[in-house]
Amino acid sequence: MSISTTDPNTNIVIKTFEEMNDDALETAVANASEAFNSWRKTPFSQRADLMHKVASLMRDKKEMLAKIITLEMGKLISQAEAEIDLSASIIDYYADNGEKFLADKHLDPEYGKAFIRYAPLGVVFAVEPWNFPFYQVARFAGPNIIAGNTVLIKHASIVPQCAIAIADLFEEAGAPKGLYTNLLISGKRASALVSDVRIKGVSLTGSEAAGASLAAEAGRNLKKSVLELGGNDAFIVLEDADIDKTVDWALVGRINNNGQCCVASKRFIVVEAVADEFLKKFTQKMESLKVGDPMDRTTELGPLCNEEAAVLIADQVMRSVDAGAKLVLGGSRLKRPGAFMEPTILTDLKPGMAAYHEELFGPVASFYRVKDEQAAIDLANDSPFGLGGSVFTSDIERGKRVADEIDTGMVFINHPTWTQADLPFGGTKRSGYGRELSELGINEFVNKKLIRIS
Ligand code: NDP
Repeated sequence: MSISTTDPNTNIVIKTFEEMNDDALETAVANASEAFNSWRKTPFSQRADLMHKVASLMRDKKEMLAKIITLEMGKLISQAEAEIDLSASIIDYYADNGEKFLADKHLDPEYGKAFIRYAPLGVVFAVEPWNFPFYQVARFAGPNIIAGNTVLIKHASIVPQCAIAIADLFEEAGAPKGLYTNLLISGKRASALVSDVRIKGVSLTGSEAAGASLAAEAGRNLKKSVLELGGNDAFIVLEDADIDKTVDWALVGRINNNGQCCVASKRFIVVEAVADEFLKKFTQKMESLKVGDPMDRTTELGPLCNEEAAVLIADQVMRSVDAGAKLVLGGSRLKRPGAFMEPTILTDLKPGMAAYHEELFGPVASFYRVKDEQAAIDLANDSPFGLGGSVFTSDIERGKRVADEIDTGMVFINHPTWTQADLPFGGTKRSGYGRELSELGINEFVNKKLIRIS
């Protein structure tokens, strides 16, 4: 895939970029390795100062950075600005709390004295996706740089200007050479890089195929990996839910980021007693969305990230309809230039249909009517993915009981699955392994070293 900026609002190529050649890649890895030798010994306070500076620069340049996000992958401009704030808050969070999270842990063994010291690993390498081009990087670079690691980032090929802008923030903040390096390389070269002995750990957020490829390399080379892959989150509505509020959240859960969140609400599983009311109100909301230019602040649904993504989701819908699914709303590409898909709702979905099993990364909701709570739980768990999920009920104890039975890494009660700096993020099953954010996130790429004193 070529590395380029294509505006998904028009599908016009704006700018193309040269991939790094092998010499430049070798220099980048060597610099990162060299930088680790001093960064690991840099006091927490200095690491934190640098990262606060990065966060502050990010906020100062919010307007400009948000425009790059919107230009390259079509996020609504207001959501792009919110992403910049969220990313800065994650970087600040680790700058504020990293030292506390990684303080020596004193043990009380049967013999002698002992403690655990949390030592950085070295150069860690992340492959990042386009859907939240700043946030995804912040949640990897924030904890790892504070922990004393140095980072190499291979960003998605469709967001090169975002990738360069983040690296520029580090440079402007005064980061030493090699601490944070953007690698303009293809996915194939990213997998090949994993075997480099100077790289001590790898992390990928993206598709199952890319995750499996990178993790296979990591396994072959006996390196730690963290994977955050796709999801097919259930949004369960029980009969005691406040339907109007629930429908509002359903809309946010499905169309936020133009439907392209790994933790988007994708399968709406509603118990019979309130199914008709929910579907009617949800359809009205989806139908009245203003679709258009993501730079226009009145737009409510923008394009997908690129033409391939729009072609893919239209094909998933078509295959499902051909197999017997029904369209309550939409189902086609929009008749205008750009990577647009109509807001769509599918019903009558059954095992074997594309939309039943595959992740729908766009504004397409799958609606399921079920008999009761147990049927909702069973359907929610009938998925190879295990990322997030949500349950809507006025009875919080009931919500907790249902949450307990859903086989995913995260369940939200009366809210779609979402993210913030101090909550762990990650999945089970084919959604990956490991955790990002919170105290758990900073522990992924550190050596929990035992020191025993006789
Ligand atoms: P990819 O998984 O292809 O891309 C994500 C990142 O992985 C990019 O940086 C990509 O680089 C890189 N990559 C691709 N192939 C390899 C490989 N073999 N080895 C190492 N790195 C690789 O996702 P897509 O953009 O193609 O999106 C496809 C699907 O992935 C979506 O429909 C969605 O299901 C899922 N996805 C999930 C995300 C999440 O947040 N969990 C985010 C984005 C996608 P390059 O861009 O150069 O190909």
